Amino acid sequence: MKKSRFIAFAAASLLASGAAFADDCATEIEGNDVMQFNKKSIDVPAACKEFTLTLKHVGKMPKTTMGHNWVLTTKADEKTVIKEGIAAGPSKDYIESDDAKIIAHTKLVGGGESTSVTFLVSKLTVGEPYAYFCNFPGHAAIMRGTLTVK
Ligand code: ZN
Repeated sequence: MKKSRFIAFAAASLLASGAAFADDCATEIEGNDVMQFNKKSIDVPAACKEFTLTLKHVGKMPKTTMGHNWVLTTKADEKTVIKEGIAAGPSKDYIESDDAKIIAHTKLVGGGESTSVTFLVSKLTVGEPYAYFCNFPGHAAIMRGTLTVK
């Protein structure tokens, strides 16, 4: 059972208003100096038109050694996107530009920085688990999670 208080709140809000509040259509995730995200899953209310993800690097290390980004793909495309991102290299923030397999991504940030990305929820299938990860080389093995529209 992984019913977070956020889900309960979102559900209550939906019942009360019949539509999602803007607050429900955004979330924040933190990355730190020991290569961790503070969330293993993100739920997006299906009533949201757009969803905004803010990535906050709460560490102190520079992006050249402990950079973090947030990349969203299908589970099927995850491995390929990680491989292509590493091949793209640091000058491209480890993102293969114009890659249709990438549903959404932030830029790469270092300690103390934050960045955000907004994407259309209609691009996603309700109930399908999507993969998110940091594409800095070696990080995706640990810095990863699942995003689901519910
Ligand atoms: Zn990272």
